[in-house]
Parts: sequence; structure tokens; C-alpha cells
Amino acid sequence: MAVKRLEGFDVIIAGAGPCGCVLAKDLAKAGKKVILIEKGGNSLKGIGTMMGMLNGEHMIRARFPNIWQQTLEGHGVVLGTGVGGGSYLYAGITGMPQLEPFDEVGIDLRPHLEEAKKETWVSKTPDEFLGPTTRRLLEVANSIGLPFQVAYRHINFDKCEYGCQTASFGCKRGAKWMGYYAAQEAAEHGARLQTYTDVRSVIIENGAAAGVIARDVRDGHYYEIRGQAVVSTAGGIGSAGILTRSGIRGAGLRLFGDPSFGSTGLLPAGDLKSHFYEHGTSIAFMDDKNGCMYSTNITWSRFFWSAYQVMGSGLGGFWKVYKAYPRMVSIMNKIHDEGVGRVTYTGRVSKTLTLADEDKMNHCRFVNEKILLAMGCDRRTIKHAGFSHVKGGMSFGHPGGTCPMGVVVNRNLETPIKNCFVCDISSLPGAPSRPPVLTLVTLTKWFAPRLLERLGGQGAGPASPAG
Ligand SMILES: Cc1cc2nc3c(=O)[nH]c(=O)nc-3n(C[C@H](O)[C@H](O)[C@H](O)COP(=O)(O)OP(=O)(O)OC[C@H]3O[C@@H](n4cnc5c(N)ncnc54)[C@H](O)[C@@H]3O)c2cc1C
Repeated sequence: MAVKRLEGFDVIIAGAGPCGCVLAKDLAKAGKKVILIEKGGNSLKGIGTMMGMLNGEHMIRARFPNIWQQTLEGHGVVLGTGVGGGSYLYAGITGMPQLEPFDEVGIDLRPHLEEAKKETWVSKTPDEFLGPTTRRLLEVANSIGLPFQVAYRHINFDKCEYGCQTASFGCKRGAKWMGYYAAQEAAEHGARLQTYTDVRSVIIENGAAAGVIARDVRDGHYYEIRGQAVVSTAGGIGSAGILTRSGIRGAGLRLFGDPSFGSTGLLPAGDLKSHFYEHGTSIAFMDDKNGCMYSTNITWSRFFWSAYQVMGSGLGGFWKVYKAYPRMVSIMNKIHDEGVGRVTYTGRVSKTLTLADEDKMNHCRFVNEKILLAMGCDRRTIKHAGFSHVKGGMSFGHPGGTCPMGVVVNRNLETPIKNCFVCDISSLPGAPSRPPVLTLVTLTKWFAPRLLERLGGQGAGPASPAG
């Protein structure tokens, strides 16, 4: 089968998550010839439905039959695919970036933060979106000295609906920001969206990037795509694979995961209803001193929460959660983990948590329990989920740090291959221990003008598909 050639690009961007989409938009608007390559599709078909998330056109053609890949230890790693990447199915919680780890490597994100907030529709959850159970949790937590606050979200609340439970299936009202929208704008400014195409490796000539080799995931034919600069934005697992296959040493040998876990308790019968009937994740506490995050959990429907248990605890788990759901209060946690893990040459993931990680998790469980008891939950009903040493007990929603700045990429986000960069969650110096999209988009806003300056001069002229 003949290799197809596409050439004449200023910038080749590999992976259409929030970073790739925003970068493509900013560069295309600046007049650069951009190709944004994504191994999934570019569609909103099935958005807002469970089946749309699991099997819709947007998610199909992924590396996995569904979005849950398992680590070699049996834990879950959740990834989005298709244009928008993880931002298609994220909960839209905003985590304000921790700027100090970037300061340490000489990157000042401050001048770009406001622009990134505007780009990603950051706004504070309005009062009318706080239901009675959430309010009680806020009051109770504050009264025992835990500074929970009303959360910021990547949501346009004018379009949002109180009690909606489908944010993480993609928002069909268009209320949740997704990289998808930036990608459509990039296309309007002339960027080429190349979907169902898996970037395999970087073409290197005279020590500099000259393009990529990619493969059509539907019919298997190969592309040679040529341009002046290559930016990998394929996410924590994807970028490690591209770099490793391009001979870049050290990629994929670290991996943070921001483990997601939590605790639940049941409110007394006849008291308030579960916060699952209210608006999800609308209050949070970022305990940076201890590297821990707390928030009310995301709100899935009774059926979906119950079905989600089947993966870990079978049909028994389904029934227990189905019964408990109407009175359940659920606190979700993340911790700043030490980043022990790796991505294999073939793209499999191994992720373990250290004793220090488990210690932080235990601290979260202790704090959760204090809150649940103060809420009035019966001590006997309190359950804790997510144990690192139990096979399949953990879930990692923010895998990254596989090509960290200061180690695999330098402070310009450039790899040892000239003109080959990484700008996504894989280049972060450490686990954010918070929802990372705002941090990632701020980093992209920092990177885009620097790349433009590096490219200098005029664009390469019209991009020409050849052969
Ligand atoms: C269930 C869930 C809920 C979340 N909730 C939140 C939240 O509320 N708030 C928040 O801030 N964050 C949240 N996150 C995390 C956030 O979505 C991710 O951290 C973020 O999307 C990472 O962005 P990225 O651009 O680095 O990569 P990704 O979003 O992972 O995008 C990478 C893209 O590259 C593509 N790709 C990979 N390899 C290749 C290749 N070889 N060739 C071509 N394309 C490739 C992938 O298909 C994907 O589309 C959540 C994540 C999950 C999974």
C-alpha cells in the first residue's frame, strides 16, 4: 500500500485533547499552516448519553474497545479520545493551577492565566446550583475547620441545568467547555483536522524534526506528514508512546495518575436526599499543604452509578449502590502522587502507588469520615473505596508526567530533537492533585506565542496534500 504524503505545514500537532485543540486554534489564527492529527473522530454524535460516551462515533476507533484501559496491575486508567480528548468526557471542574512547580523550571504562567480562564469558560458555581445537601456539607466542613469553598467550573451556567447528571458523557446543551470547540474554530481558520490517524513517530533529519509517520486506524495505510515543527499533544500515555518510538530516551519512565478515590455514607432516613440529585462537584477543598483534594462527587444517574460498580464488585455491588443511592453522600478525593509508573514500548501502562501516596490517601479517608459523621451519617454506613494494594481497586483519571519538563523536555518544552516539542499533561513536572485542564490550557497559552516566535517570519504557504 502506497504511503500518502501530506506536506507544507508550519506545525504538525499530534493529538486533539484540550492542549492540541487550543494550540491549533491559536496558531491557525496567527496565520500558520497547521495540521491537527487525532486518532479518534470529530463528532458530537450521541453526546450526553451513556452509549454516546462508551460507543459513539466520537469515542470509537480508540486503542481500546472502550475508554477504560487497565494497567498491568489491573487498575483503571480513564482516557478520552476523538477531537476534544479528555475534555469531552471530563466533569468540567476547574482546578486553579499551582504555579510554583512551573516557577521552579523557569516558566511563569501568571500572565496567561486570565486568558486561559476566559478560553475555557471558567465561572463560579452560582448560588442557585447549590442544593440543600451540598449546602449542609459546606457548612459542616467549614464548622470543623475544613475550608471547603464553592467550586469553579468550565461551565457556562446560562446554558446549564440544575441537577443535570450527564456532564461526563459530554454536554448536549453546549454548556461545558470542550477542546472540541477550539478545534472547530481552528478549522474555520484553515487548520486541517486529520482524524482516525494515529501518529507513530517523528521523522528526524539532521537532528531536527521534519514531520511524522502516521497510520490510518481504519484501513491501515501509512502517511508521511511533513512540516517545520512537531508538537506532541497526545496526552499522558500517547505522548510517551510517540517519543519512545522516536528514540527519545527517558520518555514513559515516570507516570503520575492523580488517583481518584473517595468515601460514602448514608444520611438518616427521612433526612435530606443524596447530593446526587443536586449539582455535582459544586464545592471543593484543595488542601495543598497535604497534597490532597476533596469535593462532592460527580453526579451520575442511579443506574449508571450502580452499573459502574459491576467492574469492581460484580452484581452485588450494583445492588448495594442501587439501594443506597437515594441517601448517599459521596466525597471524592485526589492526591498528589509520587509519579511511580511507566508506559511500555507497546503502550501498556503500569502504575503503582507508594507508601507515601497511601499515607495521603489514608489522611483523606480520615477527613472524609469526620465530615460524613458531622453530616449525620450513621458510622456503620461509611465506606471507603480505592485501595492501591487491592487488584483493580484504583482509578487514575489524570495520567501524565511521562515526559516531564526538566527531564525529557527542556524549559521551552523541546525534546532533544530540535523543533519537536511536547505540550500536554505528559510534560507537567508533577501530579497536579487537582483537575488539570486549566493548568494545561494556561501552559498552552504560554507555549503558543513562544512557538510562533521560534517559527518566525511568514507561514509556509498553502498546505498541499501530495500523492
Ligand atoms: C472521566 C474524567 C473526568 C475528568 N474530569 C476533569 C475535570 O472535571 N476537570 C479537569 O480539569 N480535568 C478533568 N479530567 C482530566 C482531563 O480531562 C485531562 O487531564 C486532560 O484532558 C488532558 O489533556 P491533554 O491535552 O494532555 O490530553 P488528552 O485530553 O488525553 O488528549 C490527547 C488526545 O490525543 C489523542 N492521541 C493519543 N495518542 C495519539 C496518537 N498516537 N496519534 C494521534 N492522536 C493521539 C487522544 O485520542 C486524545 O484525543 C478528567 C478526565 C477524565 C478521564
